[in-house]
Amino acid sequence: MTDQHCPGFESNKALSEVKIKCPACGKEWEVFSDELEKEIKCSACGVVVDPKTCSCK
Ligand SMILES: [Zn+2]
Repeated sequence: MTDQHCPGFESNKALSEVKIKCPACGKEWEVFSDELEKEIKCSACGVVVDPKTCSCK
């Protein structure tokens, strides 16, 4: 029986993963949808990616 869940679970469940592609180096990775509200830095080259223009499905 796994009837119980931790308090943070429900909010995490509402998040979706969005695929980001760095326009500079082409690295692709996924971020949670709440991270789209802020700037995302490419972990490979450090370029700031705007997910509104660079996300690819
Ligand atoms: Zn990059």
